[in-house]
Amino acid sequence: MLPHVSEALTNLGIPAQPAALAIGGEWTAGDGAMLHSRSPIDGAEQAKFALATGAQVDQAIGAAAGAFRAWRVTPAPVRGEFVRRFGEQLRLHKADLAAIVTAEAGKIATEALGEVQEMIDVCDFAVGLSRQLYGKTIASERPGHRLAEQWLPLGPVGVISAFNFPVAVWAWNAAIAWVCGDPVVWKPSEKTPLTAIACQALVAQTLASTPDVPDAISCLAVGGADAGQALAASPQLPLVSATGSTRMGRAVAETVAKRLGRSLLELGGNNGMIVTPSADMEMAVRSIVFAAVGTCGQRCTSLRRLIVHESLADNLRDRVLAAYAKLPIGDPRDTGTLVGPLVDEAAFVGMQAALAAAREQGGVVHGGERVTAGVPAGGYYVTPAVVEIAASAPIVQQETFAPILYLLKYADFDAAIELHNSVPQGLASAVLTTDLREAEQFCGPAGSDCGIVNVNTSPSGAEIGGAFGGEKETGGGRESGSDSWKQYMRRATNTVNYSTELPLSQGIKFDV
Ligand code: NAD
Repeated sequence: MLPHVSEALTNLGIPAQPAALAIGGEWTAGDGAMLHSRSPIDGAEQAKFALATGAQVDQAIGAAAGAFRAWRVTPAPVRGEFVRRFGEQLRLHKADLAAIVTAEAGKIATEALGEVQEMIDVCDFAVGLSRQLYGKTIASERPGHRLAEQWLPLGPVGVISAFNFPVAVWAWNAAIAWVCGDPVVWKPSEKTPLTAIACQALVAQTLASTPDVPDAISCLAVGGADAGQALAASPQLPLVSATGSTRMGRAVAETVAKRLGRSLLELGGNNGMIVTPSADMEMAVRSIVFAAVGTCGQRCTSLRRLIVHESLADNLRDRVLAAYAKLPIGDPRDTGTLVGPLVDEAAFVGMQAALAAAREQGGVVHGGERVTAGVPAGGYYVTPAVVEIAASAPIVQQETFAPILYLLKYADFDAAIELHNSVPQGLASAVLTTDLREAEQFCGPAGSDCGIVNVNTSPSGAEIGGAFGGEKETGGGRESGSDSWKQYMRRATNTVNYSTELPLSQGIKFDV
């Protein structure tokens, strides 16, 4: 059982009147429009304060640029020690932070706790990484020369995040950026401001116990799209990492590209799963239901397209619908609830519009109605929908951020892969099969075109150790594990001549 949100805020030392701008532990009220933030659980107002303006974002960026001068020359393992201590704060306050995630994003308790665990895991990963930022030594063609590359801190990093992973995405960026020697300026979703303020409060507590660490390695500006654009436009931020819709990613990428900056984009998905005749059906039903209805269909990796062999389609549809009929839908704070609310009314309207379009395009819709009985009034609760529809229907091409699962049929495995890859997005994918050839084909060069390609497990629920992200309109970025850290550093190729001669490469003679 998670603590009540007011108790969690008190435990984290957050004042009743939160401020929009923070440079380390120094808080300043915003000068912008008033934000009224409401809980998806019951629509109740949870926070009311003025947002940060573009000028205030610039102020935070200036402070981060100042902190970079000291942070870049702090040894990486010492930077790692800061991240280790921050991870300890997260362990101490895991339930408090999860309670705020549930209150603001509407996630059920176990998923909210899992999200905070992801933050802890990435801190652990970053601590180890702080001693492993390896460069290569390369064979030089010139005698008496050493050719090598080293990875150096890049500069302050701007982070724009979405409402549905309100804390983990920032932590993926921040923990890695910090060990790489980069300060972070964070613009969270205006739908989840308190989770961001809570994270910054935990950073401030960590900073208080590490006096040698410059405070401005962590800055927060709670603002709207204009604040996000201020980050994108700033020449002081060599990298902007943006997570959210493809529409937002395009707007950010254009602004960053105009100044020839670097952007790391984690955008929308339209994730598919192929279920083949040899699949374990019990496993199929469980992984489909988790992937399609977890976080009420509001994960970037949520399963949206189920591509089923025609011999199984009716049977699998009935089994999925039977599982859906038993799903506990309701208050995400209650133990036992598996499906919480949509984030707001606009999400509900978007879901209904997609279902109406699906019907117009010949689809047969099961479920998808609003639930009002046995749930808190004021929230938008729905039954998850399954839509039997032709693969060519235009609605299938689009990501609707709600629990809608399109059921598509295939006859031939090659055609199933074609169908799978025939959408503009390329985030997460899965095949359920016990046929080794199908599994390897799906993972290979003529298989799934996504960044995440799974076999016999759900496309949703990635581990932090792998690089996370997707292709095509998903934006091409990779965050979190593996060698994603390289995006947060600059690579310097060094040629060191320790001889008494000055030979030129490629045998060029240039005697003066
Ligand atoms: P959103 O695009 O509405 O907002 C995301 C963030 O971008 C917010 O902080 C918002 O204020 C900011 N923003 C919006 N317009 C902007 C602009 N023009 N310039 C600068 N900043 C701007 O997304 P959302 O509704 O919060 O989240 C849902 C979307 O995020 C879905 O499409 C989902 O797939 C995607 N998402 C992707 C990943 C991933 O890793 N690929 C992870 C989580 C969410």
